[in-house]
Parts: sequence; C-alpha cells; structure tokens
Amino acid sequence: MSAPCRGPPGSGKGTQSPIIKDEHCLCHLATGDMLRAAVSAKTPLGIKAKEAMDKGELVSDDLVVGIIDEAMKKPSCKKGFILDGYPRTVAQAEKLDEMLERQGVKIDKVLDFAIDDAVLEERISGRWIHPASGRSYHTKFAPPRVPGVDDVTGEPLIQRKDDTAAVLKSRLESFHRQTQPVINYYSKKGIVATLHAEKPLSDVTDEVRKVLS
Ligand code: ADP
Ligand code: ADP
Ligand code: ADP
Repeated sequence: MSAPCRGPPGSGKGTQSPIIKDEHCLCHLATGDMLRAAVSAKTPLGIKAKEAMDKGELVSDDLVVGIIDEAMKKPSCKKGFILDGYPRTVAQAEKLDEMLERQGVKIDKVLDFAIDDAVLEERISGRWIHPASGRSYHTKFAPPRVPGVDDVTGEPLIQRKDDTAAVLKSRLESFHRQTQPVINYYSKKGIVATLHAEKPLSDVTDEVRKVLS
C-alpha cells in the first residue's frame, strides 16, 4: 500500500502519518523532516535548500526528487510507504509516477487534508517538534507530558524557524499556487480522499483509518 498525504502547512499530515504507519506497517517519508535534517547537518543539499525553506518557498524540484528516490529504497519501505509533503508540484507528481512505474508500485490513495487557512496560524504557532523523529506536539491541542520534552525519548522539543505568521503567509501562497494543482492531477485518477482536517485530532485519525481500511 502507498499513500501520499497532501495538505497545507499545519493541517495535520505529520501527526496522522506515524499512527497510520504503525497500523499498516508502512514507512513514513516526510520530505520536510529530511530537508530539516540536511539543513542542520549542513550537507550540500541542506546548504542549497535552506534559503527557500527560511522564506517559506518550495525547494526546487530537482533537489527533492533525488531524496525521495533514495529514501524509498529503505528496507522498511518494502511493504509500502506514506509520502508526507510530497509531491508538492505537478512536476514532482510526474517524476514520482515515472519512479514508481520503474519499481512496479502503484499509489493506492491520496489523502487531502482539507482545512481553512484561518485555522492554520494557531496550529503552527503552538507547534513544537522533536526534530530527530519528526513528532509534532501542540501546546494546546496535543501537549507533551512534560512541557518542552519529547514523550518517547525525553529529548528537548524545538519550534520550527518557519513557523511564524509571516513565513506561514508565504508557505500558504506556495501551497495554493503550486500544490493545489497536484490534487487535480490525482483526482483524474480517482484516488483522492478528502478529509475534514479541521476536526479534533482523534476524529481525523478515524477518518484516515476509514479511508485506508
Ligand atoms: P509543513 O509540515 O508545514 O507542511 P514541511 O515540513 O513538509 O512543512 O516542509 C517544510 C519546508 O520544506 C517547505 O516550506 C519547503 O520549503 C520544503 N519542502 C518540503 N517538502 C518539499 C517538496 N516536496 N518540494 C519542495 N519543497 C519542499
Ligand atoms: P503538518 O505536518 O501538516 O504541517 P502537523 O501534523 O505538524 O501538521 O500539525 C500542526 C500542529 O497542529 C501540530 O502542533 C499538531 O500537534 C497540531 N494538530 C495536528 N492535528 C490537529 C487537529 N486535528 N486538531 C488540533 N491540532 C492538531
Ligand atoms: P528557546 O528560545 O531556546 O527555545 P525558551 O526559553 O523559549 O528558549 O524555551 C526553552 C525550552 O523549553 C524550549 O527549547 C522548549 O523545548 C521548552 N518549552 C518552553 N515553553 C514550552 C511550551 N509552551 N511547550 C513546549 N515546550 C516548551
């Protein structure tokens, strides 16, 4: 099984993916998490990606296509994968199709996290993440057991540099202009499931479970 998750920043993709991944034995590939790791390790990819990420713009297609191709070769992806935050442009979707065709793999579902832009500022301003795992918390909606500390590892949580109102504005512009058309691309294939992503976290989990059952 394979399922890309698509939705604006803060819509809940990173929150739902780990839950589903465990239930269906999939790997969770989040291009944002991979890029943030590359930026903090100052790899050649990270150095090239940083400027666009800080401004809330998309990183160029040729930089991200390579990391997904590489990541899908992991043994944990054999049974299937969740692509979180990828593809974000029609060009990436076309490249992904070529890549999957070579591997004889098909996309089962595209989960569209539909949500009003107005809700997202509160989502991202309260977001705290554990960078090593990509786990997201929220000071109001999903607080960690101990403030500032990851429940699983006990390591400190951080706030993302791009989780500010100003950068969110630019991220949403990129989303509507470049990522929204990706949903039409998959709608034509009849595999899109639209979720009510503004609902409470556990309701969204129930919807995701239904779609994938
Ligand atoms: P969010 O969780 O807010 O949707 P991500 O963590 O997925 O954001 O992505 C953070 C940033 O990383 C994006 O604003 C963009 O600069 C870059 N990025 C992530 N995935 C992609 C992609 N598929 N194509 C281009 N840029 C990407
Ligand atoms: P994305 O990966 O799509 O950018 P996240 O999963 O990181 O989004 O969620 C953004 C923030 O909103 C996080 O702080 C998360 O804890 C919180 N969150 C996720 N889903 C919900 C929900 N259904 N209701 C309220 N808050 C949520
Ligand atoms: P910094 O700017 O270095 O993050 P802060 O004083 O703002 O310094 O916070 C110190 C640490 O405490 C943060 O790294 C974060 O892990 C944690 N923290 C502070 N407030 C919260 C909160 N409301 N929710 C979760 N973690 C928090």
